[in-house]
Amino acid sequence: MKLATYEYQGKTSVGVVLDDAIVRVESAPDMLTLIEQGVAGMHAARESIPLHQVKLLAPIPRPRKNIFALGRNYAEHAKESAAARGEKVGPPVVFTKAPTTVNAPFGEIVVDPTLSVQVDWEVELAVIIGKRARKVSQSDALSYVFGYTVLNDVTARDLQNRTSQFFVGKSIDGYCPMGPWIVTADEIPNPQNLNLKCSVNGVLKQEGNTNDMIYTVAFVIEDLSRMMTLEPGDIITTGTPAGVGFARKPPEFLKPGDVLESQVEKIGTMRNPIIAA
Ligand code: MG
Repeated sequence: MKLATYEYQGKTSVGVVLDDAIVRVESAPDMLTLIEQGVAGMHAARESIPLHQVKLLAPIPRPRKNIFALGRNYAEHAKESAAARGEKVGPPVVFTKAPTTVNAPFGEIVVDPTLSVQVDWEVELAVIIGKRARKVSQSDALSYVFGYTVLNDVTARDLQNRTSQFFVGKSIDGYCPMGPWIVTADEIPNPQNLNLKCSVNGVLKQEGNTNDMIYTVAFVIEDLSRMMTLEPGDIITTGTPAGVGFARKPPEFLKPGDVLESQVEKIGTMRNPIIAA
């Protein structure tokens, strides 16, 4: 099942996406409530709205806490990053992105040269937690997943690399398009065999598969839940495959007028125009 947050006639709702239409969920006012209630008792309106008439928002427009993010979690990307920085390949890192960085799946991304002249792309598979998870084993971990979505961990490289702390370069307003919807976990029993693609102006920049992840989704849930409680609606974005801009020769970055497309197999495609500040 595909679940989206959308705006229609000035009202924000949650809906079930069926081909080219959307049906409003009447039993939950927003996605976080729906995740907490579970989809079993959900009921939806009878009438549907054509999908092109609604504005899709991020499935969780305002997460309750920072988005957990994995860095250098794909083997090929870990190598390209280390080479571009003249470093040895290190283990995956966990950092976070501020809730205010979330953007809509077709929202504009603002490039402001007074903040950053190195705005880069990172297509990722994001995991939405469905149940409170504490000290969960890898073998049980996927039963705590509500669903999956596409996320682009847009990054201001110059700010990211200014210090050892990734946070500010990862948290600029709008630098986290997410969507176009959540696909529930029952439709993706194995998250470790999904193709991902990212293109700029129709030119393919990243193409990878989640089977290249160093820390799998199940491992990350086990590892994080040993240290802290994961809660319904928490988002974990799982890292990006090779092909990011700063590791290219010569390096490439996003500029106003560009269109960023991010796709994960079995989920969907986001399209974000880049605009000037
Ligand atoms: Mg990333």
